[in-house]
Amino acid sequence: MNELLENPVFEPMRPKRHLHLVQTSFGDREIYDSIAHCNRCGRCMQVCPSYRLTGLETHSPRGRNQIARFILEGKFKITEPSVCQSLASCTLCGRCTQHCAGKIPTAEHVLEMQRSVGKKRLPVLLQFLFELRPQHPVLFKSLVRLALFFRPAQIWKIMYFLPGFSWLKQIDQLLPAKIFSLDKMLKQEKKLPDNDSFQVIYIPSLEAEFLQPDIAVSSLRLLQKQNRCSIWTNTPCGLFEYVYGDLRQSRRVLRRLIQRYNHVCTSPVPLVTDSLDVYHFLKKAPQLFAGKNRLAAQAEQFAQQVHFITEFFPAHLTPLKSNLLPVQLDYGALFSRESQPMMAVSEQIKTLLQQNFVQCVYTDFDTPSFGYSFTKGNQNESIQFELVKTIARNRAKTILVFSGLNALELNKTLRKFYPAARAVHVVHIADETL
Ligand code: SF4
Ligand code: SF4
Repeated sequence: MNELLENPVFEPMRPKRHLHLVQTSFGDREIYDSIAHCNRCGRCMQVCPSYRLTGLETHSPRGRNQIARFILEGKFKITEPSVCQSLASCTLCGRCTQHCAGKIPTAEHVLEMQRSVGKKRLPVLLQFLFELRPQHPVLFKSLVRLALFFRPAQIWKIMYFLPGFSWLKQIDQLLPAKIFSLDKMLKQEKKLPDNDSFQVIYIPSLEAEFLQPDIAVSSLRLLQKQNRCSIWTNTPCGLFEYVYGDLRQSRRVLRRLIQRYNHVCTSPVPLVTDSLDVYHFLKKAPQLFAGKNRLAAQAEQFAQQVHFITEFFPAHLTPLKSNLLPVQLDYGALFSRESQPMMAVSEQIKTLLQQNFVQCVYTDFDTPSFGYSFTKGNQNESIQFELVKTIARNRAKTILVFSGLNALELNKTLRKFYPAARAVHVVHIADETL
């Protein structure tokens, strides 16, 4: 009891639904300790997209940390509508952490509170589909293929109007008109992945595998230039469950991935992803298993082998065609604006393009991704609109993004408000497929 008073937790009776410790730049902390380190200085406010749009303290990182603290101290109820609004409006971008002297991981605090609320935030059927994937990946793949096959048919459009299916329209607007199958595209490649003897493993993100296979093909080509590469398709990693579902399930899925990796690789082999969201999550593997000695050690070793595709870029990139210039980066990604690979590639592109590289400032908006448009549609549109205003002001023609989902989200807004620019995944700059 005393220990709980010293270190309150969100659900004392259900501790497994929550993180045991939060990883911070200053070491691992208990959740209350991590929240209590916020000294309310407000330095993070000016970079928080939801605060800048609404001006509400409850929609700021400082406000969210105070709400979390009051809940743990029993002064606030987590079910209050204003608390739910505050949580739902966070894009989990992690920009506040970057700008905080104490590197307070506010996005992690928000997720911990979401886990207590326990609400499913995506449309029910979409949530169901993603929850199905870890247990039945083949069924998931078949259902996605079936949906894509029927997409051009009129029945798809009729379904927009059925209760619970309106999100289909949103998906339709996001997706390109024609989507090729990754399996077919890989067969057309002269160098197929080598699943027996390999030096690097590539896990395509969900969007690269099912919606934009050109990202997966470019990533594979890039990796095969230097290494023998194996591809692990239809491999869930636990990120969806971490953000939208049950933490216990996220741990199960990630544990399975780590076990598969350990089973297949007797010595360290780089594991590469094309999505910065996935990269940041996999790097958090030790956080999920903190307190479980053997698993924590395995997760630590596993996380060290996780890489983002840009880390395999050649030292010298080919200059871009003039009709693609100037170039701007969109830093939208879960958990961080200035992650190591993002900053490294940003420097590389800056050196390559020089005056044709548009430097973003910290108050510029980024694309909120990873399903934010399905959970907070109005706010998502406003943030995207602010971003497009910056793109238009910079007269940028190409916006490089760090996940396929960001490319889809941003291109939808660009088509509507600024069709002169186009968002493309950063991997295409190295594969010269721009
Ligand atoms: S999160 Fe950091 S920057 Fe923001 S108010 Fe707290 S201490 Fe200050
Ligand atoms: S993660 Fe992003 S949206 Fe959430 S509080 Fe921090 S800056 Fe604001």
